[in-house]
Amino acid sequence: MSKDFAVKFWGVRGSCPTPGKQTIKFGGNTPCIEITIGDKTLIMDAGTGIRELGLNLQQKNKELNIDIFITHTHWDHIQGFPFFSPLYVSSNTFTIYGYKGIDKILAGQFQKSFFPVQFEDLKSKIEFKILANNNSIMLNDEIRVTTMLTNHDGKNLAYKLESDHKTFCYLGDLEHSVKSDSALINFVKDADLIIYDAKYTEEEYLNSKSGRGHSTWQEGVKLAQAAGADKLMIFHHSPLRSDKELEKIEKLAQAAYSKAAVAREGMVINL
Ligand SMILES: [Zn+2]
Ligand SMILES: [Zn+2]
Repeated sequence: MSKDFAVKFWGVRGSCPTPGKQTIKFGGNTPCIEITIGDKTLIMDAGTGIRELGLNLQQKNKELNIDIFITHTHWDHIQGFPFFSPLYVSSNTFTIYGYKGIDKILAGQFQKSFFPVQFEDLKSKIEFKILANNNSIMLNDEIRVTTMLTNHDGKNLAYKLESDHKTFCYLGDLEHSVKSDSALINFVKDADLIIYDAKYTEEEYLNSKSGRGHSTWQEGVKLAQAAGADKLMIFHHSPLRSDKELEKIEKLAQAAYSKAAVAREGMVINL
């Protein structure tokens, strides 16, 4: 019997937390994704969505041993980290993966000028592991994690998880290249799910947003089609995007590609 492989969105917004009436349906927390494969829990990014995930994990009332993968250290991807309550519990263990410098930057969030608790005072066991471009590691001999650096000025690592013939790709932040990117297509080839940075629409991108390090839902659709993916989740929504606008984008994206959808907080996808 194949293992469960579930993906839950705790934060889907890019750049800046965006609470308010306009964002209730899709959510205003910044990137955080929980992945459950069998009895293993993994977390992708520590945006403000990780705060509520932490409270939820603590309710399970058991020792946690969790791998956290950080795509890059722009604020929206790490801002929730000090508010992740399981860090403060001595029976918990975390392995945090990220690009060179991840340890110093995350620990740096606990400087007195930013935060009242010091990193050294966290009670859980925390270990850092550094990853680079094109790394491939195994977790528990059962989950393969592969990395790829994407075009984003914060040294963003995209992550691919493979387990039991299922493939999940979270690309973090990226700006697409003008020409078709065969390395990226290869990375996401035949994925069951691709989570794609679609901060802009094509119109916004062409008008004024090229060079800002983000992509569009139209480029996400092109990539998913070229890769033969089973599902595309449009993610990292602009803080300016209202629920109404995201609903409109979802309709347009699904008309272009029936396997596309717009990520919202609380959504669970079973691969
Ligand atoms: Zn971002
Ligand atoms: Zn970024």
